[in-house]
Amino acid sequence: MANARFDAVRVAIAKQPVEAEHPGEETSSYYGCNVFTRATMRKYLDEDTRRAIYETIEKGATLDRSIADHVAVGMKRWALDMGATHYTHWFQPLTGGTAEKHDSFADPRGKDESIEKFSGKLLCQQEPDASSFPSGGLRNTFEARGYTAWDPSSPAFIMGDTLCIPTVFISYTGEALDYKTPLLRSDAAVTKAASELLDIMGYKNEVTHSYLGWEQEYFLVDKELYAARPDLVLTERTLLGHVSSKNQQLEDHYFASIPPRVLEFMKDLEFECYRMGIPAKTRHNEVAPNQFEIAPVYEAANLAIDHNLLLMSIMKTIAERHGFEVLFHEKPFAGVNGSGKHCNWSIGTESGIGLMSPGKTDKENLRFLCFMANTLKAVHDNNALLKASVMTATNAHRLGANEAPPAIISSFLGTQVHAAFEELLESKDMVKIAGKKGYSLGIPQVPELSVDNTDRNRTSPFAFTGNRFEFRAVGSSANCSGPITILNTILAYQLEKFTEAVRTRIASGAEPLQAVLDETRETYRACQTICFDGNGYSDEWKAEAKARGLDCESSVPVCMDEYTSEHTLEVFTSTRVLTEVELESRKEVLWEIYCKKLGIEARTLSDLVNNHIIPVAIKYQNILLQNVRALKEIYGDDFQRMAASQMDLIRCISDDIAAAESEIDKLDAICARLDEMGEGRDAAVLYHDEVVPLVERIRSHVDSLELMVDDEMWPLPKYRELLFIH
Ligand code: ADP
Ligand code: MG
Repeated sequence: MANARFDAVRVAIAKQPVEAEHPGEETSSYYGCNVFTRATMRKYLDEDTRRAIYETIEKGATLDRSIADHVAVGMKRWALDMGATHYTHWFQPLTGGTAEKHDSFADPRGKDESIEKFSGKLLCQQEPDASSFPSGGLRNTFEARGYTAWDPSSPAFIMGDTLCIPTVFISYTGEALDYKTPLLRSDAAVTKAASELLDIMGYKNEVTHSYLGWEQEYFLVDKELYAARPDLVLTERTLLGHVSSKNQQLEDHYFASIPPRVLEFMKDLEFECYRMGIPAKTRHNEVAPNQFEIAPVYEAANLAIDHNLLLMSIMKTIAERHGFEVLFHEKPFAGVNGSGKHCNWSIGTESGIGLMSPGKTDKENLRFLCFMANTLKAVHDNNALLKASVMTATNAHRLGANEAPPAIISSFLGTQVHAAFEELLESKDMVKIAGKKGYSLGIPQVPELSVDNTDRNRTSPFAFTGNRFEFRAVGSSANCSGPITILNTILAYQLEKFTEAVRTRIASGAEPLQAVLDETRETYRACQTICFDGNGYSDEWKAEAKARGLDCESSVPVCMDEYTSEHTLEVFTSTRVLTEVELESRKEVLWEIYCKKLGIEARTLSDLVNNHIIPVAIKYQNILLQNVRALKEIYGDDFQRMAASQMDLIRCISDDIAAAESEIDKLDAICARLDEMGEGRDAAVLYHDEVVPLVERIRSHVDSLELMVDDEMWPLPKYRELLFIH
């Protein structure tokens, strides 16, 4: 019997590793060769222009239009030298991923004349036809047009034959339509808030930025097997499929040696990363079979995010060459671990002070405890919003499941930092001027704070790891800008409140550092409930978190309400990161995306079950029926005994078919209702409350059929095939 599934499996098994294209040369000889780096700028831009650009990158200074013209000339010359023929503004719409609209450098002027045209104006601004990007009603209310504007703080790069210019994407009236705009604003808010506080502490003229080191998890699946699974193709996850008898029980995949085909893929990937200036550093197998991770060295958050998005698109192309499909979905396979994108986040100064790193002196450690307490307070006060920032239809499969951070935000500090805070709470008379040595805080342990990096709690969604927080709840397919913007903003807001309180203390006569210390103590006291060092997956924690007043909502669409809560509005408008209209529109877009994703899943599942699964189950059942009939013909009365298990099987198959059919009918009916409802909150809630559980129930019947139907007849590649072939 012809079986598409077997053909796909056969091709996949027969594959040899495709040798990586990467050269044997040293990385430094090609690192960043496709990027308009500072070294390249030295060749193509004059000194004044370069200085103006650096000012913009480092201090956020506005770039003069005449400078932009100079940059455009140099950038164009470089791009043409590199063989580029087109340029594009590269931006991050709220749909996720990146978008680009290519224009040719050539400006056909009729006749036989064509000049390579690219001016400062074209570098700085473009008007892509933006009406099909989601805007949460923003462009309906305002103008249909949106435009992209150059972000000089992220360098241009060349992909294929195209010069890509990182840009923000805003509506004609200035509202953010993308992820980058609020991220840049939030970084500016941190810069402002942190420098005021640092100034009081005696650190003058420090420029603070947020930093990010992401860890990208992903699955690889053979291209042929992927193509034979309509659910993977259309939804990036398997909507059906019984867990294989072996999955990750042995944990033999984690950090095991990398399969040769995958290794060649990784080498090519790293080569391409280096050419793009992405500082890829670690690669390894992850816990689930076919699951891997790539992580770079951390960078300024804006750049790190551009690099992550760039990496995600590069990966797709390179995987293709090696006969793989990359899955960024948070939960492509039920029953095995899902994928996250841990965001290692910190703030620090351009002069090199890590504001989340303990120091050597008392004063440095006061600074450390002060920024820690502020971060914890910010997370405490906005824990529902922070959770909303990672809640999506796809990540919901991970959050709250027994493998990844729970759908409750808490923070793990580790024994030493926790002890230091406890000490701080109890000490009273603390700042004593100790001669020339500076201030003694009177907390004996604190100056010795060397944080043990092995003190880890894998169940915590927001864990302190020595010099940064690791936000583990972020999903593998996410644009990290969402959560990082929120972290930056809530911290900036909290720092402003803190600084205000410190100023009040100083005004009533306190020494500045004493004031900071006292305020740090009170800040920590007010937010201790966010700290939790125990097992975040346990049921006891769920009960306790509720008692502590932490947000325990697990419905994705309901979590989105937090985007426009009174407190969120106050935080975002006072820091000028997002206006009320922008927050409102973001929430609308998130509901819309949630509805779209679940709508596609529901329809895909309904088609699969009706067209692939049930016909095959019936075919197999007919074979069994024939068998029973034949047994009866030949063995007469004795057939009852001989056909008992066949008849059982026939009954079970009927039961599952009937149950699946009836649930599919319900699903189709709800979908018809949803078609009339639009894609706002009500629809999203209906998807969450009714469609999600129905999809799961239908799956359980199909998975039960998978165990009964003849393996040769089953139309879809199974888990053991998808997950174990290299
Ligand atoms: P893990 O042990 O969690 O797997 P990795 O070494 O894979 O850690 O990743 C840690 C990430 O954190 C790396 O990208 C690293 O560069 C980044 N990182 C290290 N220090 C900081 C910091 N101060 N701020 C932000 N990110 C950091
Ligand atoms: Mg990690």
